[in-house]
Amino acid sequence: MSLDMTSHPVRSGPPEELVPSRYALKVGDIDVLVVSDGVLTLPGAMLGHNADPAVRAAWLDDMFLPPDAFDWALNVVVVHSGDRTILIDAGMGTEFPDLKRSGQLIHRLEAAGIDLASVTDVVLTHMHMDHVGGLLVDGVKDLLRPDLRIHLAAAEVKFWESPDFSRVSMPPGFPDALRKTAKRFVKEYRSQLRLFEEEYEVAPGVVVHRTGGHTPGHSVVRLASGGARLTFAGDAVFAVGFEHPEWYNGFEHDPEEAARVRVRLLRELAATGEALVATHLSFPSVCHVAVAGDVFRWVPAFWDY
Ligand SMILES: [Zn+2]
Repeated sequence: MSLDMTSHPVRSGPPEELVPSRYALKVGDIDVLVVSDGVLTLPGAMLGHNADPAVRAAWLDDMFLPPDAFDWALNVVVVHSGDRTILIDAGMGTEFPDLKRSGQLIHRLEAAGIDLASVTDVVLTHMHMDHVGGLLVDGVKDLLRPDLRIHLAAAEVKFWESPDFSRVSMPPGFPDALRKTAKRFVKEYRSQLRLFEEEYEVAPGVVVHRTGGHTPGHSVVRLASGGARLTFAGDAVFAVGFEHPEWYNGFEHDPEEAARVRVRLLRELAATGEALVATHLSFPSVCHVAVAGDVFRWVPAFWDY
């Protein structure tokens, strides 16, 4: 090996990163790739605005995390099943310069060899900006195929016509940014939306299922193939939600219902033993759920690829 001191032409394409920020696994015949859109730093109180601040601080301390801020992972999933390539959620996008550690999805997809034109379907768990923003990045719409189908619960689109923020607890500026982004998303992509009421099979073994709670049209994606199963839970489960499933996340529009959805889902996943992936669980977030007394326990999956 020699040390090359000559100059090289500027390399095109995305910058090379220290870590690839993607994680591949198989669910039977279905290929799954978890891609990180980056992280989003928010006040610690967002983890549970109905929690005793001392208990919340103790939880953060037990997790070796600082007391006042929490880095939320932003996990997006690409699924190949049959002849479909499905993008589940799209990350934050680049609209918000204050949130500059997020919005990495597009160049990370490219680095993973995933051409946006190969995506046949997008499934959106809901219309918060950290889930639809990637579709609004300059130039992205032009790279997507004109016959792209975007699957989304009808109740979600309806909700954002006149969204209720009376029960949330978000940092200042967020409600306006969320409203604006949702409005822009519907305007840009209306003709490509394929709305479902309760459930829709996007591809063999890939079913999107409305749960409500976090938002009225919030949905999860269930993968099943050859006896293997995995659920992408979107924002139904957060890192703190195993130990404190009853804590209200600051972004939940109907917190009581969101907590019911979370408990029901965690109980079911603990019973079936299937894998769980969720947007804001620490990357790559692939895990299982165990019952621990009255609550649950997060069991990270062992890497075996
Ligand atoms: Zn989210």
